[in-house]
Amino acid sequence: MTLVTRAWSMLTTMLPAGGGLRDEDWTRRHRLLTILLAAGIPLLTVVGAFRDEGLDAAWFITVALVLPCVIAATAMTSKRLPSILVAVGFTALCGGFVAVCHGLTEAHFTYFVVVAALALYRDWAPFLAFLIGTVLHHSVLGALASDRTYDHHEAAQHPLMWALLHGLAVLGAAAFQVIAWRLTETEEKRAQENLDESQAQMTLAFDETPVPMVMWSPDGRLLRANDAYYAWMRLSRPLPMDFRLEDLPLVAEPGEENIFGEMLAEGDAVTVTRAYRRTGDGSRIWVEIHSNGLRDKAGRLRLIFVHCIDVTAQMEHRDELRRQLRVDDLTGLLSRKGFEDDLAALLTGQPGPAGVIYLDVDRFKAINDGAGHAAGDDVLRAVADWLRAVVPAGSLIGRLGGDEFVVGLGGPVETAAATARSVIDSFGTPLPVAGNTSRIAVSVGVAVADRPDLAEHALLAADTAMYAAKKGGGNRLAVFNDQMRVDVQQRITAEAQLRRALEGDLDETLPVWFQPIASSVSGHIIGAEALVRMRAADGGILGPGHFIPAAEETGMVVPLGEHVMSTALRWLMRWRLELGYVSVNVSPRQLSEPGFVPMVARLLAEHGLDDPSRLVLEITETAVLAMSDDLQERLDAVKELGVRIALDDFGTGYSSLTWLQSVPADVVKLDRSFVSGLAGDVRKSSIIVAVLGLATSLNMSVVAEGVEEPDDWRALAAAGCPAIQGYLISRPVPPAGFERLLWETPPVAPAPTSELLPL
Ligand code: C2E
Ligand code: CA
Ligand code: CA
Repeated sequence: MTLVTRAWSMLTTMLPAGGGLRDEDWTRRHRLLTILLAAGIPLLTVVGAFRDEGLDAAWFITVALVLPCVIAATAMTSKRLPSILVAVGFTALCGGFVAVCHGLTEAHFTYFVVVAALALYRDWAPFLAFLIGTVLHHSVLGALASDRTYDHHEAAQHPLMWALLHGLAVLGAAAFQVIAWRLTETEEKRAQENLDESQAQMTLAFDETPVPMVMWSPDGRLLRANDAYYAWMRLSRPLPMDFRLEDLPLVAEPGEENIFGEMLAEGDAVTVTRAYRRTGDGSRIWVEIHSNGLRDKAGRLRLIFVHCIDVTAQMEHRDELRRQLRVDDLTGLLSRKGFEDDLAALLTGQPGPAGVIYLDVDRFKAINDGAGHAAGDDVLRAVADWLRAVVPAGSLIGRLGGDEFVVGLGGPVETAAATARSVIDSFGTPLPVAGNTSRIAVSVGVAVADRPDLAEHALLAADTAMYAAKKGGGNRLAVFNDQMRVDVQQRITAEAQLRRALEGDLDETLPVWFQPIASSVSGHIIGAEALVRMRAADGGILGPGHFIPAAEETGMVVPLGEHVMSTALRWLMRWRLELGYVSVNVSPRQLSEPGFVPMVARLLAEHGLDDPSRLVLEITETAVLAMSDDLQERLDAVKELGVRIALDDFGTGYSSLTWLQSVPADVVKLDRSFVSGLAGDVRKSSIIVAVLGLATSLNMSVVAEGVEEPDDWRALAAAGCPAIQGYLISRPVPPAGFERLLWETPPVAPAPTSELLPL
């Protein structure tokens, strides 16, 4: 028994399992076989009609058996029974052919055709039914009506044996079907296993990953999404049938609104877009959407695969950086960038112009240097708070760095000017600063812009106007006008020219000229002031008034000043026997450079000037008046080198005479405005006498500038002014011309004070 079981189980493992067809495939095959079976009836009729007997009982019995099978197989909905009925019908049909043909051997061929056809069911039931039916038919009919079953004598004698023989032949024919069937099953199984494995991998990679993933159909329907996606998007399951991509609670980043259109257009290329979702508390969760299209062989887009990466931290970092760029840390006002952007946006978003008010705190440097940087910061914060309170609501307020503030507001220039005026007036009230109150004044410039792309220009224009207000004495308002526009243009041109000149051969592009300083007694040249010139592209010579302001503003005065000083020392060394000293102008911007003192020391050493007092540095009275403590110290450091200091343009800086006592100057240069017309002006001569008296008592020398008239020279000499400089002696001239002046006059000799006015 166990042997049989084992053999059976071996057989079943070797044989195909059967019944594995999918429903739709089975239905198609069943329909085909049923039609073939039905078609057998007319065929049998034709064959029968041509036989000698015509349509006899055999034909009738066959049709009577086949027809119900066809009808039942068509009507029944189950699978196995209809297929058995088709097999039974075919057995009857084949038997019918054999009977109609009186057992003709060729009629038996139909069995082989049918056995192959029935293999289409890929099921044992119809197959077995047919085999059994065949054997039954051959044995029963072979015994009862052998002439209608076999056409040879031997088979009629032993119908059962021939029935088995035919059964075996049919089985043999079926064997190859079985083998093919079995092989197909094995291959299918393998394919299925591969598929299962892919499915499992897919499930692992898609469904169970924490990365939100989704597949969309090309028309925007959701095909499949993983748990992470549902959770991330806060989607409920199941989604409504008509759920579409547009229904996602996502807001695309500006400029990337058409996510899906882009995915479709890009096809199978990877597209990356960004979008965000709002959380319950209103904050944003950012996602980076990577999408990739899958196409079929014909190139049609089948689905779009999307995976999402949470980039919230990255985007928050970006926003923070942007915010930092837009906001001034100290005051919380807009930064320069933030202000420029918002001003442009203001001009874009409204019709008509917008005004810009540019404020600079007067004497802020003194506060900062005097009371320290923390106090300076307090003042800046107080000014920011004050501005917030006094400018109209909705105005843009920014700090551009340092003590410079800006306000932007819609409307014509009159509106901005009126606001600016009220801001200046409001500063009349002392400001609360760090627990105290402090009186602060501002210089204010106003300009207007009428196009978004001119926002930056308006800022520059307002700055220029503010500068004019500051120059006018501060605590006042200036509105940008056409003259300022011309000035700005000239300054820009001068800046460009100077930059080019500094890149060229300096002796050629920035020649240094000399103006003699002479003894008022003898008229002999005792010193020279070095005055720089610029050679324009057309060969013409430009005076320093054209480019020194731009040089100071941009800092180019630093290399320029070094060039002048070096050139002046070079010529002094050449004329050392005839010339007492050279005087070089130094701007405060140069002095504030930490490298200034070392630079002077280096030049002295390089040119081998053993008596540093033969170098005089001229610093204007106004510059010294505005100097911070740091710069005063720097001045002392210069003096320690042995170099002399001259107070230039003295008398223009509104200083009191006694102030001279506190200045470490060696020379006072009386400004031209006190000198010209001196001879007939009692007021001027009395001032000069007072200055000379004080200077002598302080051991300072005095040079009178701008001497143009012989009468003025006489008056100066009479008052005891030791040195004079002016067109009367000579205009500034190039070194070659100066050399001629030097050599034409006798060497410097101390002139007796009694000697009067040699002309
Ligand atoms: P400053 O230091 O007061 O130089 C004297 C200016 O007065 C020179 O003008 C000179 O030509 C002019 N001047 C001399 N005598 C007379 C006169 O009798 N009548 C009249 N009307 N003017 C006279 P310049 O050369 O145009 O220089 C103008 C200013 O440019 C200088 O004024 C000085 O502040 C500045 N500057 C010149 N060279 C340099 C330089 O190398 N570095 C710096 N930082 N500033 C310089
Ligand atoms: Ca000077
Ligand atoms: Ca001067």
